[in-house]
Amino acid sequence: MSFLEPVIDLDQTEVAEIRIDPISGNRSLFTKKPFYKNEVILGFLAKNVRSTPTYLTVQISDDLHIELLPECLACTNHSCEPNCFFDTTSMEFLAIKEIREGEEFTFFYPSAEWDMDQPFQCHCGSNQCIGLIKGAKYLSPDSVKKYRFTDYIQQKLKST
Ligand SMILES: [Zn+2]
Repeated sequence: MSFLEPVIDLDQTEVAEIRIDPISGNRSLFTKKPFYKNEVILGFLAKNVRSTPTYLTVQISDDLHIELLPECLACTNHSCEPNCFFDTTSMEFLAIKEIREGEEFTFFYPSAEWDMDQPFQCHCGSNQCIGLIKGAKYLSPDSVKKYRFTDYIQQKLKST
């Protein structure tokens, strides 16, 4: 497989494009058009279902983790001040605030992940940054109040 091939395959939507940092090689997803708050950016499907998470999956239950289709959605980076949300009940990728054309799509990883496979130190630059990102299980009560969560994560938060 050539270096460019996956990017071409991944960029299947009219609304989003992948950009690659030439130095780090990190991929990010940017919008090609503006969205208003609560607008559906696009619907998504499960390309594959796994019993364990990877850095590309989104959690839908205790032991179900889906790989997203279109695949470009897997390039959506984390931010502690996100503009998007994966609704795993309606299977819609949503704008949770107004998004300008050319802006990067970001979502709050713990909004859909209970206990992350690969925790990381966040450098999103937001003054709301919570630092170490490990999953919803580890969030402070203040953070739990502030963010929107999938139905699955809401149930987990209630039962703990
Ligand atoms: Zn952050």
